Amino acid sequence: ILILAVESSCDETAAAVVKNGREVLSNIISSQIALHTLYGGVVPEIASRKHIEAIDGVITQALQEAGVTLEDIDAIGVTYGPGLVGALLVGLAEAKALAFAANKPLVGVHHIEGHICANYIENKDFEPPYMALVVSGGHSHLVYVSDYGKYEILGRTRDDAAGEAYDKVARAIGMGYPGGPKIDAAAKKGNPNAVKFPRVFLEEDSYDFSFSGLKSAVLNYVNKQKMMGEPIVPEDIAASFQQAVVEVLVEKTIHAAKERGVKQIAMAGGVASNSALRETMRKACEKEGFYLSIPSPILCTDNAAMIGCAAYYEYMAGVRDGFDLNANPGLKLGER
Ligand code: ATP
Ligand code: MG
Ligand code: FE
Repeated sequence: ILILAVESSCDETAAAVVKNGREVLSNIISSQIALHTLYGGVVPEIASRKHIEAIDGVITQALQEAGVTLEDIDAIGVTYGPGLVGALLVGLAEAKALAFAANKPLVGVHHIEGHICANYIENKDFEPPYMALVVSGGHSHLVYVSDYGKYEILGRTRDDAAGEAYDKVARAIGMGYPGGPKIDAAAKKGNPNAVKFPRVFLEEDSYDFSFSGLKSAVLNYVNKQKMMGEPIVPEDIAASFQQAVVEVLVEKTIHAAKERGVKQIAMAGGVASNSALRETMRKACEKEGFYLSIPSPILCTDNAAMIGCAAYYEYMAGVRDGFDLNANPGLKLGER
């Protein structure tokens, strides 16, 4: 089964050809990051326009690199939510047009399901059940995956997503957008114990997250230092902030896995490419005896290969969408 997948939910225009769900024949990503950096974050209007410019070329390249034509494809998978509505519409309209023109089935995919499915690509034997920590620019979820396509959200962020906190803190200490990779790099040169930032665990046994208090603590610290004429060491702040985020993410994930009695943990989303999170989670899983799956960094951030993988499992489960499929910016995981 060959899936052509299209992804345009945020600031990456992406297309991929995926064979039998787990074999990536091509994975083309056209990133707009350099453009949005000028504005310190993603500008939705600009994102939509750039998607329109890029999408045809990206799809053509994905087919070419895979050495297939549209006729060889069995189904077209496309992200239809959640994300920026204008951005989603570009990929969706394109996918519908191709499905109509080539008479191929259309399969709508949930973007976060795609992030989770990225774990199946490099790890051919990895299967549910497992506990998934989804940490991206817009989401922080603890998800119990009991089977393919079966998701139970145990916890979610009550305010900022983990990636959002990284981006906002980076801006506050003058590191620019996107903040995640910049903080990751700076933290390697800093002392994680330099500044004592709060670890927010919320109520006992809650699997929810909260990162806005930590973000405020960082901002307050920076302002206080400036007011008192004390120096700020961005590397130390980055390392201390990152340590506070990572400790909470790892502890809650391990706790949830134990409580559910699963033996496997998976990570997904852009923040899963964070080196400190990967390292800390690896050590914790080793100590507690959990198998850990983490996609390569390029499959953690937005891409279409993960959408092709998710579409394959939906397709095999019989999912087919009509041309009335609409973009749904607030689509919930596990709902259609
Ligand atoms: P969502 O998937 O929730 O719709 P998104 O698609 O914008 O949001 P992703 O592409 O999954 O998010 O991830 C982007 C986020 O990941 C950004 O917030 C970015 O700062 C963060 N990120 C990327 N690399 C790293 C890193 N090495 N360390 C920490 N954060 C990172
Ligand atoms: Mg992005
Ligand atoms: Fe994403």
